Amino acid sequence: MQLQLHRGRSELDVVTQVESVDQFRVVREDLARLGKAMAMLEAVDRAGVDRESDGALYRMLLGGLRALDAGDSALVVPAFYLKLLVHDGVGPEVRACASCGAADDLAAFDHSSGGVLCRSCRRGSPLSPDALELMRMVLGGSLSAALALPPSPATSEVEHLATAAMEHHLERRLRAAGAYS
Ligand SMILES: [Zn+2]
Repeated sequence: MQLQLHRGRSELDVVTQVESVDQFRVVREDLARLGKAMAMLEAVDRAGVDRESDGALYRMLLGGLRALDAGDSALVVPAFYLKLLVHDGVGPEVRACASCGAADDLAAFDHSSGGVLCRSCRRGSPLSPDALELMRMVLGGSLSAALALPPSPATSEVEHLATAAMEHHLERRLRAAGAYS
């Protein structure tokens, strides 16, 4: 079983290679799921540095694609983004306020500030208690349980926050690499 992610390969090449490893029939035949698979592949493509030898990244991507194939949870891509941020060493703090350490009254999320923020330190986006719980499940070892939950407003919230965090991370990487002058 092998998945190769070479620099310069198009996303379609990668999909073709993934498809030869596993069938992922449902993903291929469902445009919405294929779009989500592309989103994950694109994030890996833009985030990975040593991806050719990055076994953890490979397993994470395969896990994401399998989750997408098994069930079309709206949380698959945002959960993948959050895991990818952790993998890249910039996982958001979700246990306590990233600014002052307070454990209670967590009410906002701002990836550039390090994660969740309490009411006093709040900046970035508002965060509901349900969305906080969902992020804790995803990052705290209860990913399968989180993916099995029915969609809710908290799912959309996490989707929005995780996508923004991923974009923020990727733009920082690009700037650090001198891609922006
Ligand atoms: Zn605080």
